[in-house]
Amino acid sequence: MINSAPKLSDKEYEENFKELTPPFTKNGAVAEANRCLYCYDSPCKTACPTHIDIPGFIKKIATGNLKGSAKTILESNWIALTCAKACPVEDLCEGACVYNDKDEKPIEIGRLQRYAIDNYFASGMPKLFNSKDKNGKSVGIIGSGPAGLACGAELALLGYDVQIYEGSKIPGGLSTWGIAPYKVRQEDSLKEVELVKSLGVKIKTGIRIGESISIDELLTTYDAVFIGIGLGESSKLNIPGENLEGIVGALSFIENVKKEKWNSVNVGKRVAIIGAGNTAIDAATEAKRLGAEKVNIIYRRSEDEMPANKFEFRLAKDDGIIFHFLTSPTEFFGNHKVEKINCIKMRLGEKDKSGRRKPVAIKNSEFFIETDMVIFALGQQANLDFLNSIPDLKISNGCVIIDEKTYQTNNPKVFAGGDCINGGKETVNAAYDGKQAAHGIDNYLSNKK
Ligand code: SF4
Repeated sequence: MINSAPKLSDKEYEENFKELTPPFTKNGAVAEANRCLYCYDSPCKTACPTHIDIPGFIKKIATGNLKGSAKTILESNWIALTCAKACPVEDLCEGACVYNDKDEKPIEIGRLQRYAIDNYFASGMPKLFNSKDKNGKSVGIIGSGPAGLACGAELALLGYDVQIYEGSKIPGGLSTWGIAPYKVRQEDSLKEVELVKSLGVKIKTGIRIGESISIDELLTTYDAVFIGIGLGESSKLNIPGENLEGIVGALSFIENVKKEKWNSVNVGKRVAIIGAGNTAIDAATEAKRLGAEKVNIIYRRSEDEMPANKFEFRLAKDDGIIFHFLTSPTEFFGNHKVEKINCIKMRLGEKDKSGRRKPVAIKNSEFFIETDMVIFALGQQANLDFLNSIPDLKISNGCVIIDEKTYQTNNPKVFAGGDCINGGKETVNAAYDGKQAAHGIDNYLSNKK
């Protein structure tokens, strides 16, 4: 057993994991909506990867038409609640709001979107869309994450029979299992799953393609197949000591936290996170909120190269996370369980193929960081064994290659979107991909160009 952090009271856990941003009240939402200038060129809409008609849905909130507001949002984005809560809005819609140019607070677009969608779910998901007549064709979807759900919802409206296969027992993919619960709760993600099911999409959970059902069977059963699988566990560093007890991947740690049984999550007294992307920050802040006394983030490049966005970085700093930039682990030490990490200081050298300056070790700069737990968050990898089992699929740098307009892979019957084509971006990108791929599939199956 690792040297665990002391357990907190239920009240402390609830406080630590309560929502970061509270919902708007009715008056608050209307007042904020009335601040919108309804700009003719709506830069906020352009900055949204799903191009939601932002001034349009805000105007409807201002006039009390909440059902219409939800419809405007869902027309562009089926994963609207998760996106409202988890999108890096500072870098997207709110970052593009014209109020920034006046040095005033941008419109709280994410919170307003959440207000409209919360209201839609609270009012029992009234029917907003009419599906086309059934066209007799069917599509199998692998993965019930944002890409798979968005693709399924759109295809159902276009008249297709849609069957989603999900490996996990609970559907929703990354929204259900991979986003810190103080941003998105499982119940939020499951509401989105219910919405997609209400359109006629069927979801089978606990089904692993290649085990319970073969890929060949899928390709024979359905007129087209969409791959919307996410990524697997974090890569490792391949340095000595990686198999010591107390060294885990970020994904499994975050999944445990998402079960919301805080008391049963094993967290070290001192935790070190390797990596500095958004997943690393989620793991770090969750460890801290579970009671870890000291949480270190170790990153081999500088703050400027850190993949985590500004909001996540601020959140981690506010939580007291310690950042070790330009630092790389070289070995893990311990007697069966991890006790300390040998680290070396780095400097940035010449640019590498990715255009980023390559970290170079500084001689004689080694030092130890004492720790009881290590969480790897170095970027997740696609399940290449599975992807390679699909006939004719082209894969490069761990990503499925698609036609950017149609989302069709090298196998004409197979389409793909989300993390498996981009190596891991935001939920909103996956939601966009899924919707666009549905139209690619529709064009293919109806012989449209
Ligand atoms: Fe409203 Fe800001 Fe978008 Fe203009 S840029 S339409 S003010 S949210």
